[in-house]
Formats: sequence, structure tokens, C-alpha cells
Amino acid sequence: MSLSFSPAVAPPTENNTPAFWFIFRGADLLVLDEGETAVLPQSIHELEFLRQHYLGWIEEETAATHCFAAEVAEETDPPPDMQFAGLRQLFNRLPTDQLWLAGRAVQIVDWDRTHQFCSRCATPNEILDHERAKKCPNCGLTTYPRIAPAIIVRIDREIDGVPHLLLARNGRWRRGWYSVLAGFVEPGETLEQCVHREVFEETGLRLKNVRYFGSQPWPFPNSLMVGFTADYAGGDIVLEEEELEDANWFTVDSLPNLPSSMSIARRLVDAFIEEVKSK
Ligand SMILES: [Zn+2]
Repeated sequence: MSLSFSPAVAPPTENNTPAFWFIFRGADLLVLDEGETAVLPQSIHELEFLRQHYLGWIEEETAATHCFAAEVAEETDPPPDMQFAGLRQLFNRLPTDQLWLAGRAVQIVDWDRTHQFCSRCATPNEILDHERAKKCPNCGLTTYPRIAPAIIVRIDREIDGVPHLLLARNGRWRRGWYSVLAGFVEPGETLEQCVHREVFEETGLRLKNVRYFGSQPWPFPNSLMVGFTADYAGGDIVLEEEELEDANWFTVDSLPNLPSSMSIARRLVDAFIEEVKSK
């Protein structure tokens, strides 16, 4: 995420500066199709929006670039030389900062689309102008964009003096691809409790030394991935077969195919490789 981005709700009163437009049809983003790379539109003339939102601005050396999100109807065709593309397809085509801003935008657009009415009394909601929230004018219920926290954890273990890490694969993934373990946090649970529970449920393993690693918004559709590392403390691998097809211990010299470098999953594995190679 760009450090120079400042979120805001109220749009600028005057806006003659360049802007980035994050325009969604469903969960797909409108981009100028330039082959290997994709470019965000900076102005929009011919499209009809269902709704639009101000996101905030990117501070640059000489000026601020305002950012807007908007939604078009499902039957909308892209303008010439443009396409609607899923954010995963844009992983290596859009600049990283813009991609994560698109992740912010898609969650706001989706929240707006699915919270047009109060969930308690079905009255049409009103958008608040001082914070990202909606309020029911009838019963007063306030609704905020919902984020679903999930943990993601790398488990390290020395076997015969050689560092290993645990990687697993879901049966729905492409053959030969593995990642670290992840799972959603349950109501009432701490992140650390979630790490222990998910790993035990999915693999039967016990952990120690659970340490915070970092976090990453994951807009598929509305997660926040909270990353940890941990050390193996006991148990033999027993797969939860509804979740996992395989889980095993790997060394840096025997790694399978891994997730995109855009993901915190890959950053966890890359950090392991770096630690082992620096010893
Ligand atoms: Zn209400």
C-alpha cells in the first residue's frame, strides 16, 4: 500500500487535477489494455455510473492525485481499447500501489452495493459524509465496511539439523502448487488462538514461539491476512481432508511451486529462504 495515500470520504470541492478512476463491473476493474501492462483511466466520459465514491488522494511531489471508485451496471461494455479484469489477473500488470488501492476500492464498492438497505428494518440507508459508514434514518443502525481477519502462518522445524518449513496444498489448486497454512478468525478468538486452532485442525500439529510477521489486506473478497511464524512443537501430520490434499516438510532446496510474490504467503516463504541462506 502506498504510504503517500491519504484516505478521505468527502470529495474535493474543486477538482481540476488528475484523478485515478477505479471503475468496477462486479469485482472486475476497468483498465486500458496495453498488453503486458494495464493502465488506470484518468478520466471517464462515456460511462454511466450506478454509484461513485471518493477514496482519498495520493500525495505527489507537485500535486495530489485524487482517487475515485465507481460501479457500472453488469451489462456495461468496456470502451474501445479497455477491458474489465479481475484483480488477480492484474497482479503483475498494474503498479503495486495502484493494485492495493484497487483492493481498497473494490471492497468499498462491494460494501456499498450490498448495504443499500438497513439490515435491521430494511429502510434505505443514508451515506454519512464524515466517515466511511451508512446510517439508517429510521432505526439509527450504523453500518461500516466489514473486514474478515484471517491468520496465515509459516511453521519451521529442524529435522536432522536441517531447517524445514511446512507447506500444504488444497485439492482445488493447480497441481504441484503449495502454500503456508491460513484460516479465518472466529468470533471471540485472539489471533494467537486462531493460529494454534487452525494448524491443529488442518494438520494435527502443535506449535510454539508464535511470532507476528506482518499483515496484508486481501480483497478476495474482504480479508485482512495477519501473518505469523511459529516453531513445530509436536505431533504427526494428520490432514483435514476437506481442506487439504497434502502437507509436508520442505527444505530450501526442495521447494514446490509457490504463490505470487504479491502475497504475504510468498513473503513468509522468502523470509525463510533468506534466513536459511544467511546462516
Ligand atoms: Zn433501520
